[in-house]
Amino acid sequence: MLKRAKVIILHRMPYSDSSLIVKGFCSDFGVQSFLVKSAKSKNCPFKSSLDPLAESEIVFHDSGKSDLHFIREASLIDWFPHLRKDLEKNAMAEVIAEILLRYLSAGPSQELVFRYTEKALQILDRGEKPQETLVRWMWHVADCEGYALSLHECVRCGAEIQNFPADFLFENGGALCQNCLGVLQPEHSPEFLADIARLSTREQLHNPRFLECEFFKYLKNHLGENREVKSYHWLQEVRNYAFCKTDS
Ligand SMILES: [Zn+2]
Repeated sequence: MLKRAKVIILHRMPYSDSSLIVKGFCSDFGVQSFLVKSAKSKNCPFKSSLDPLAESEIVFHDSGKSDLHFIREASLIDWFPHLRKDLEKNAMAEVIAEILLRYLSAGPSQELVFRYTEKALQILDRGEKPQETLVRWMWHVADCEGYALSLHECVRCGAEIQNFPADFLFENGGALCQNCLGVLQPEHSPEFLADIARLSTREQLHNPRFLECEFFKYLKNHLGENREVKSYHWLQEVRNYAFCKTDS
């Protein structure tokens, strides 16, 4: 059966001298694997449409017998050229791709996650506040995958949170009100808690990397096996390098 789908290419690897295996995240079919014959030939019709991090529309053949599908047609929608020129943005996009690759399954429609991912790549490529892209994407994905964190209601008593939470307990599912915190010291700094409140108001975050780190741990713990996400370490290296460079 021929199927048509929008896809974000997550990864590709050589399969033989001339062929490639491409893994892509499809809006309607989740993460799928494709065999692309003669992909390395200069006559390959697909060109950049199957580059990692490209968004394309593909037509593929699903025989129903194999998990590896043949791509018949591919046309590029967006190559996100600007994010490729920026080491940090590129690393952030790779973290997104690797999380999808490791944790999302094939089969069910993941349209909402797809739309958030598409949007995240667009922002990294040419949008405002690219620094917040990864944490906001992880926040949305946690929500889509059934691990939503409560920002507006206290996880203990259900009271509405005014302004910002007195503390934020990832392991308990979100915000804590002042009453429930009582005399205890919060785990997180006031700056962190104010940023938590800014997530839903879409105001600019003051320290998106702090939130990013916590959301990454949260998402990783909840999406099943605690597998390594190598690109996340690479992202930290890129940032450290950029920091050293500015410092010197
Ligand atoms: Zn409470």
